[in-house]
Amino acid sequence: MHKTVKFGGSSLADAKQFRKVAAILEADESRRYVVVSAPGKRWSGDVKVTDLLYTCYNAAARGEDFSGPFGQIRERYGEIRAELGLKLDLDAALNEIEARLCAHPDRDYAASRGEYLNALLMADFLGIPMVDAAGRILFDEGGSFLPERSYRTLSAKLRETPRAVIPGFYGSFEDGRIHTFSRGGSDVTGAIVARATNSALYENWTDVSGLLSCDPHIVENPAPIRAISYTELRELSYMGASVLHESAIFPVKSAGIPINIRNTNAPDDPGTMIQTGAGVKYDRPVTGIAGRKGFSTILVEMDQMNETVGYARDVLQVIADHGILMEHMPSGIDTLSVVVPTEQLDPHRNEILVELKQKTHADAIYVSDRLSLIAVVGRGMVRQKGTAMRAFRALADAQINVNMIDQGSGEMNIIIGVETADFEEAMRALYAEFFPR
Ligand code: ASP
Repeated sequence: MHKTVKFGGSSLADAKQFRKVAAILEADESRRYVVVSAPGKRWSGDVKVTDLLYTCYNAAARGEDFSGPFGQIRERYGEIRAELGLKLDLDAALNEIEARLCAHPDRDYAASRGEYLNALLMADFLGIPMVDAAGRILFDEGGSFLPERSYRTLSAKLRETPRAVIPGFYGSFEDGRIHTFSRGGSDVTGAIVARATNSALYENWTDVSGLLSCDPHIVENPAPIRAISYTELRELSYMGASVLHESAIFPVKSAGIPINIRNTNAPDDPGTMIQTGAGVKYDRPVTGIAGRKGFSTILVEMDQMNETVGYARDVLQVIADHGILMEHMPSGIDTLSVVVPTEQLDPHRNEILVELKQKTHADAIYVSDRLSLIAVVGRGMVRQKGTAMRAFRALADAQINVNMIDQGSGEMNIIIGVETADFEEAMRALYAEFFPR
């Protein structure tokens, strides 16, 4: 039985953090494959190495001098190396990166070097090999990750070594050019390595003790989530709760490998276990509550809409033609409303209204803004009666008007639309109902 462990930027920000990582690895021998981010912030206001690298790239692309930020990068690694008493000479690698950036500035190559250098340092510190992700985590020309080929190549290499450090965040095209995932992408690398090595568990070590059941900026001290299904996590993340890169779920989910979010600074905390729904024991109907502001509703009314074939399709076509995402579509017999992000609607607002009028022959069309959506998510509600009733009673008791309701047929979430002015109050009322202190 072995595990893949990934450490985020704040877990690797300085030598003290490197030592904590080594202690975590020592505490459990099955933690064999170690994926690392670039050094993150040491304090709030500090700059991540990846951001310094993007700054270097931007200057290099304009043909400007970037020795200032590059000097800071040298210093960050130099300090870690010196404090850990490592003999490894990083100068040659740093000089090569600087020279390449001058000669052929490439954005992804630049960004990836934070992870690359950190992996060299960590491998040296732990005394185990570094296995590069370039040439093993592969992308097609369009930048899409190639799962099967990558798993095969990576697993063949990692089978040769019982332990290894792998840099996160990047891989390469077939011709060897570096390509990165989007920001925070070392989480995805961790999931890919866990899958390729058939790990029993993917531990993702960060600076919080897992996922919280509500936004701590809105609710004081929300309860931690000990266990959650991949699907619930997707719902909560989509609605704003973030702890993991959203693409990190797919590689492990299909292989049934659980993800355990852990805290490098509190290694005894159990963190959050993310797994298939069947594996989670639910002791309450609601797992978490998350929400987002900034939505608008387009309400279309037409007599006998229910008897008009393809009406919803025509409405959605107009919205899709403008590249706008449809979030929800609650409807009545002669009304249909489409909830869309306001910032996507704004640039096309007038054209959309004109086109809708022309193409759908609606009797009336209204747009209302300042809608916030709140998702009450919980697989546990499938087996419990009255969850929706409790949610709406809590909102009514708090004098909050509900503008929209949408319950997915999976019975795993209830989406509630409220006026943005009521958003925080509504979140607190729902939290108090489902997570009584
Ligand atoms: N270092 C990269 C970033 O800052 C990737 C990561 O940390 O996952 O986004």
